[in-house]
Amino acid sequence: MELPFLTRRIYGLETEFGVTFHSQGQRRLSADEAARHLFKDVVAWGRSSNVFLGNGSRIYLDVGSHPEYATAECDDLTEIIAHDRAGELIFRRLADSATQRLATEDIHGELYLFKNNTDSHGNSYGCHENYLIGRTRELAPITSVLVPFLVSRQLICGAGKVMPNGDFRVSQRAEHMWDGVSSATTRMRPMINTRDEPHADPGRFRRLHVIVGDSNVSETSTWLKVGTTELVLRLIESGRALRNLALENPIKAVRDLSRDPFGRAEATLATGRTITGLQLQQAYLQGALDLVEQHGDPGPELAAVLAMWQRVLEALGAKDTTPLEADIDWAIKLKLLRRYADRAGLAWSDPRIQQLDLAYHDIQPGRGLFTLLEARGSVSRVVDDAAVEQAAETPPQTTRARLRGAFVEAAQAAGVDYTVDWTTLKVNEPPPRSWRPPDGGLLAGHDQDELYAPILCKDPFLAVDERVDTLLDRLSGEPSGADRRRPRP
Ligand code: ATP
Ligand code: MG
Ligand code: MG
Repeated sequence: MELPFLTRRIYGLETEFGVTFHSQGQRRLSADEAARHLFKDVVAWGRSSNVFLGNGSRIYLDVGSHPEYATAECDDLTEIIAHDRAGELIFRRLADSATQRLATEDIHGELYLFKNNTDSHGNSYGCHENYLIGRTRELAPITSVLVPFLVSRQLICGAGKVMPNGDFRVSQRAEHMWDGVSSATTRMRPMINTRDEPHADPGRFRRLHVIVGDSNVSETSTWLKVGTTELVLRLIESGRALRNLALENPIKAVRDLSRDPFGRAEATLATGRTITGLQLQQAYLQGALDLVEQHGDPGPELAAVLAMWQRVLEALGAKDTTPLEADIDWAIKLKLLRRYADRAGLAWSDPRIQQLDLAYHDIQPGRGLFTLLEARGSVSRVVDDAAVEQAAETPPQTTRARLRGAFVEAAQAAGVDYTVDWTTLKVNEPPPRSWRPPDGGLLAGHDQDELYAPILCKDPFLAVDERVDTLLDRLSGEPSGADRRRPRP
């Protein structure tokens, strides 16, 4: 029987980082300058501050000073966690290198990278989640079911934030959202960005672009964030009737719900009735449980997500954060800050609490507070260091990212000028003399123009492509042909 929902989906996570450079407590470089130093190795390698890496990801610095890492397309929950953390590892390596280089210029200090969503100037930067959905469906019914879920999802995966006045918020992004659903990213700050840019065959696919979520440092929080959203997408795709939970004012609701970690804050539904954040989450959880009951085992990973989702909501209902203190960012942070404030006798509005809040998101091992908890084994993990290191080098093997990664490696090794984006692979220059047959003529059996034709990879699920194999063979200077084709995964 064909299931009514996608059982294989493409995920991608984009993370913008905060960056600062400090020397003996003083800010020695502006954020812009620090970010430019951070990207020096990238520019040396790829001749641009906007490049695709051999692991299929994109690393770039837009105008402004928030370096971004966009993971390669993953089709597995554990894998997207490894690739998201690989982004941190890659940036940490760049930061180490930049710090050393600056020291040789007699600029001594430390470069800080924060995986959070707000800076002390009140700016906000994002974590975008990307989910592939089918083109056959209308977008509006999907987003209308999704918005109330996303508004309340902060309860199970918010990053937590202490406001200057000492108030605690579940989410960092909540107060920076200005629209529910819109096609303009930057100015309007919608929760779901509907700009139609599928990075894939537009006739078949859509890319759902969720921009309301916090960046998570806890792997388990990221896993719950993407995993529960996957379950709700399946729920929507299955066409099951779900109670109409449309909110009267999603922007007000996301801010209001951010005020109470136990989900007791209320939102008003379009019908005029009120509902608590916890009740909203419970309604979606129940929908997911019913779906699984009807369609059977969703596989071990989603079954684990479902079990954890249930466990988290039960803890919230019991107003008990203890069961969440190894898993959920806001709860891990709350425990840490509480302990410190109690021990030092600090008020929550003390600037030192803000400092600690920020230090929680510092990704430098041995310095960032979350990294210290992780090294001590006090927080749960989804993947191990070996998997993260591997993801920093190797693209996902079951999506189109595999082709992109191999192409980037081959083009770099061959020293050719090339262009690459999510869908396109292209060599921009004639092959070096050494690649040509001795008589300087055409490569035997091939039209030379073929070599430069851009290759369009419009299906993100396709990890094997003969056109790419041929191109790779040519780039490596090997005669192409079936006998020389690289082994298939
Ligand atoms: P912006 O930076 O303005 O948000 P963008 O959303 O196009 O632009 P990128 O930073 O290039 O952003 O990141 C695209 C993300 O989408 C990547 O993580 C990538 O893996 C993922 N992705 C690419 N194609 C698809 C697809 N068809 N479906 C779902 N995700 C996709
Ligand atoms: Mg981006
Ligand atoms: Mg984006």
